[in-house]
Amino acid sequence: MAKKKAVVNQDTCIGCNTCPLVDPDTFEMDNDTFKAKVKDTAPEVNDKTEMAVTSCPVGAISISEE
Ligand code: SF4
Repeated sequence: MAKKKAVVNQDTCIGCNTCPLVDPDTFEMDNDTFKAKVKDTAPEVNDKTEMAVTSCPVGAISISEE
């Protein structure tokens, strides 16, 4: 089965800091770009990740299958 992975669109993200609050295991803010990124240590996509996708005000997070 393909592994699902969260992806943050760097062009769309406005750095609102919501996704790291909703799913801190998966997302963190990048201190250089002030945008969110997916952690290297992110677990498999889970309920919190899905919630972050729907919580993002600009729809910058998507789930891709590798
Ligand atoms: S919730 Fe969306 S806009 Fe806000 S930091 Fe995360 S990806 Fe960026």
